[in-house]
Amino acid sequence: MVEALPDWDSEYDVIVVGYGYAGATAAITAHDAGAKVLLLEKAPETDKGGNSRVSANLVFWPNDILMAKAYFRALAGPYTDDISDGMIDVWATEMHANRAWLENLGMTPFDLPYIEFPEMAGSECVRVLMNGPGPMGGERLWRIIEAAVAARDIAVLYQSPAVSLVKDDCQILGVVTEQHGERVAIRAKRAVVLTCGGFENNPAMVRNYVDGLPRIFPNGTPYNTGDGIRMGLEVGAQLWHMNNISGPILSFKAPEIAVAQWLNLPKGTSYLFVARDGSRFTMEGDPCITGDLHGKVKRHGYWGQQVLPIPIYMIFDEDFRKSGHIGRATADWDVSHGNLYNWSDDNLREVEKGWIKKADTMEALAALIDIPAKALVGSVARFDALAVAGEDTDWGRSAGKMAPLAVPPFYAIELTPAFVNTQGGPRRNEHAQVISTNGTPIGRLFSAGELGSIYSFLYQGGANIGECFAFGRIAGRNAAAMAPALSAAKQLAA
Ligand SMILES: Cc1cc2nc3c(=O)[nH]c(=O)nc-3n(C[C@H](O)[C@H](O)[C@H](O)COP(=O)(O)OP(=O)(O)OC[C@H]3O[C@@H](n4cnc5c(N)ncnc54)[C@H](O)[C@@H]3O)c2cc1C
Repeated sequence: MVEALPDWDSEYDVIVVGYGYAGATAAITAHDAGAKVLLLEKAPETDKGGNSRVSANLVFWPNDILMAKAYFRALAGPYTDDISDGMIDVWATEMHANRAWLENLGMTPFDLPYIEFPEMAGSECVRVLMNGPGPMGGERLWRIIEAAVAARDIAVLYQSPAVSLVKDDCQILGVVTEQHGERVAIRAKRAVVLTCGGFENNPAMVRNYVDGLPRIFPNGTPYNTGDGIRMGLEVGAQLWHMNNISGPILSFKAPEIAVAQWLNLPKGTSYLFVARDGSRFTMEGDPCITGDLHGKVKRHGYWGQQVLPIPIYMIFDEDFRKSGHIGRATADWDVSHGNLYNWSDDNLREVEKGWIKKADTMEALAALIDIPAKALVGSVARFDALAVAGEDTDWGRSAGKMAPLAVPPFYAIELTPAFVNTQGGPRRNEHAQVISTNGTPIGRLFSAGELGSIYSFLYQGGANIGECFAFGRIAGRNAAAMAPALSAAKQLAA
């Protein structure tokens, strides 16, 4: 709902909605340009940080601007037509500027060899940075950005979701937030910056916008529910890149845990995946199933979105059950927020919980998971025969990585597609202004980050966080540079 002009409870120069990397960067930049800044965050402080905090904290840094533009265009493929040259120029320049900006804040860049599409034009420019050597994730970069916010006079309000934007005929004047059940109107004298993430946790938007994956669970923050898309639509924003997601990644979703967990396929080889009809549908180590290439797959010479059957069952035998834990704890939401689930090494705790079903025969297992017994028995027999023959003529799994399911009892665990983030949202231009349906910027409204990301198709790892910093700076700079809007009284007098 767009608000009529309210009585303001407080006022700032710039209000930034959502405190992940994009919001932090916009706030830091606007502050350093002299603005009085408020960061509004929906989550409580204990759950702070959005996808940014729980990410692998990798930053794509192009070491050459011209090559970066070529790589961007190659990845966007047919979608390049919708992205202006000016936008691509600014993206490449600001992505290149990220390294110096981060070093200035205290990052020690450490290069990781991770060129996702080496065959694409310009790919030689790809450097992916972590904050110092060591394992990925672990919040090491997040802590630097958080410290930079804390070191400045930037007001941060947690548990304060923006619920609507206040707009007059031509511009945004402030934000209505909800605090402890009360609606509070906060005036933004210069501008509002939307950095409140994607729609990973909005099932209706997922069904509407994501091709072929009507049920998919997030691996990251549960607080990104598409609020920026709703608020953008309410003030006439145009949407773009709504069908582009980073995923699917085959994961496990426990009913009692908010987000899905990536898998940790152990060394054992006596397992296969089947769909609801009992058929084996893939090579189990397919990189697009395990999350590489961010869910895009090349088939028949054509790149497209990977879709997966829902649900997927992993079927295995006693040998595999003993070979190591199937679930994993990684740089995800649960680890960062102290809710780490400690998956048992032999998977028996999960059998007891009922997450893994167990039966003495394949027929009985099929009955437990409600799939056709004949089809499951047939798929397993075929898999066993291929494993014995040493050649997977059906799906091309390496001979050394498959063994017959020979040792009962047998087990099944239901797996689900999951994703790390969405890319779609209100379209923005090279000044980080949000664009309306008629193609003009909406006055005093900016955005950055995965909300309305520039990425439309193939995706280079590290590019989302890079974009948060690049467009966060542009948004913060331009928001702070706006001349103050006239107060309501002055507007009436004018
Ligand atoms: C497990 C995982 C690993 C990843 N690894 C990488 C990686 O290594 N490199 C990379 O480039 N990308 C990675 N990504 C993607 C990347 O982390 C995100 O796209 C990026 O961090 C998004 O930053 P953001 O600031 O736009 O949004 P977020 O960091 O998600 O922040 C948005 C914030 O807005 C808040 N919010 C939502 N609604 C409202 C509202 N109404 N009012 C106020 N606040 C609101 C949310 O609570 C949240 O704190 C990963 C994602 C995940 C989940």
